[in-house]
Amino acid sequence: MANSLSDRLQMFVRRATGRGRLTEKDIEEMMREVRLSLLEADVNFKIVKEFTNNVKEQALGEKILSGLNPGQQVVKIVHDELKRVMGDESVGLIYANTGMSTIMTIGLQGSGKTTAIGKLGLWIRKKDKKNVMFIAADVYRPAAIDQLKTLGKGLGIHVYDEGIKDARVIVKNGLKYAKDNQYDVVIVDTAGRLTIDSDMMQELKDVKDILKPNEVLLTVDAMMGQEAANVAKSFHDQIGATGVILTKMDGDTRGGAALSIREISNIPIKFASSGEKMDSLEAFHPERMASRILGMGDMLTLIEEVTSNIDEDEAKSMMEKMMSDSYNYLDLQKQFKMIKRMGSISKILGFIPGLGKMKEAISQVDDKQFDRVNVIIQSMTEEERKYPELIDKSSRRRERVAKGAGVSVSDVNRLRESLVQQKQMMKQMSQMDEKQIERLQKNPQG
Ligand code: GDP
Repeated sequence: MANSLSDRLQMFVRRATGRGRLTEKDIEEMMREVRLSLLEADVNFKIVKEFTNNVKEQALGEKILSGLNPGQQVVKIVHDELKRVMGDESVGLIYANTGMSTIMTIGLQGSGKTTAIGKLGLWIRKKDKKNVMFIAADVYRPAAIDQLKTLGKGLGIHVYDEGIKDARVIVKNGLKYAKDNQYDVVIVDTAGRLTIDSDMMQELKDVKDILKPNEVLLTVDAMMGQEAANVAKSFHDQIGATGVILTKMDGDTRGGAALSIREISNIPIKFASSGEKMDSLEAFHPERMASRILGMGDMLTLIEEVTSNIDEDEAKSMMEKMMSDSYNYLDLQKQFKMIKRMGSISKILGFIPGLGKMKEAISQVDDKQFDRVNVIIQSMTEEERKYPELIDKSSRRRERVAKGAGVSVSDVNRLRESLVQQKQMMKQMSQMDEKQIERLQKNPQG
C-alpha cells in the first residue's frame, strides 16, 4: 500500500537517521518534507496540519535536539504520529457473548463489499474457527446475489437467499434459518448504491433493527483517497458503524484513505483487504501499518501469516537446513511448497525490513518459474535430489534430467547455480549488520 508515500517517507527516514545534530530550522525543513509527502498521498489537510504540528512540538519540546540520535528520534515521533492517526490500537472483531453473532456489512456499490464478505467469512472460519453463513440481501444490484452464491460455493460457506426483493424479509428468515441450523456467525450483505441516498439508508436502518448486529462493518475503497473518509462519515452518522474494512489497498498507491478515515469518521479500521484472492484480508494494526509505511518492515504480520499457514518447527528446521551443507533439491522443493502456502513471494518480501527496494528485483521470480523448477526437480532421481553433487559431477545426468523435464541443459545448470547461491545468500544474510542491509537497500542489484 501507499508506495509513493512510503517511498517519500523512507527517503526522509534515511536522511533523518543519518543526521547527528539538528537545529530548529532543520526540523522545520523536515516537516515541510513530511507535509508534502502526506498531502501528495491525499491525506486530509487538517490531519496533515495537526500531524506536522504535533511532530514539531514534540521534537522541539523534549530536548530531542540535544539528545542522542536526534534524527532517529524524529523518525520515532513520526512513526508514533502515523500510528495515532490510524487509531493507535488495533480493534478486533466483536462477537456475541453467548449464542450466534451477526455481522452486517454496508458500503457503496463497487466498494468491494461482496468480495470482502467472502474474505471475512474465510478469515473468521480460519482464525476464529467459527461456522459461518452468509445472507444475500443486496436485492438492488442484479448480480450481487449470484456473485455471493458463487463465492460461498467456492469457500464451502452456505449462502441464504430467497429470490425475493424485500431485504427485511430475507434477513428475518435467514436469521431464523441460521439459528435453527446452529451457525456461529452470520454475515449479511446489504444493498449498495452508487451514491448515498435516503431509500438505501432507510433500508439499512430497518435491516439493522431486525438483525441487531454485533458488528456493522463498512467497506470503503482505499483508492478513493481522503474522499473515502467523507463517505465513511456519512454512513456512520446515519447508520452507525463499528468498523471499517478498507478495500483495494493493493491498488492504492497513495495512502490517504488509511490515514484519514479514523480521524474524520471516528470509525476504527478493522481490516485491510488487498487483492482479488480470497485470502488477502488482514486484521488492521496501526502500529504495523505505520512501520510498513516507513519501511521499517512488518515482522509481526509476516510472523502471523507464516504461523497461520505454516508449522513453525518446519520453518525453523528449513532455515537451519538452508544454512547447512546438506541443503539439497528436496529441501528446495519443500521450500517452494511453503512459499506457495504463504502467498506470493513479493508479498512476503515486502514485509521484511531492509528489503523494500530489493523486493522489486526479487519479485521477478514469479510463481510460474517455481513450477518450471519443480518439473526439473521431479525429473531427478531420489538420490540426485538428496545429493546435488551427483548432478554437479555428471553431464550425462544433467542431460537426462533436462530431457525428462523438457527443458534445456542450461536450465538445469541455472537451477544448480541457484541452489548454491541460495545457500550463500542465507549465510551472508545471517552475518549481515544494519549498515550492510542499508547498503543493499540503496543498491539492490549490488
Ligand atoms: P460491491 O459492489 O461493493 O459488492 O463490490 P464487489 O465486491 O463486487 O467488488 C467490486 C470490484 O472490485 C470487483 O471487480 C472486485 O473484484 C474488485 N475488488 C474487490 N476487493 C478488491 C481488492 O481488495 N483489491 C482489488 N484490486 N480489487 C478488489
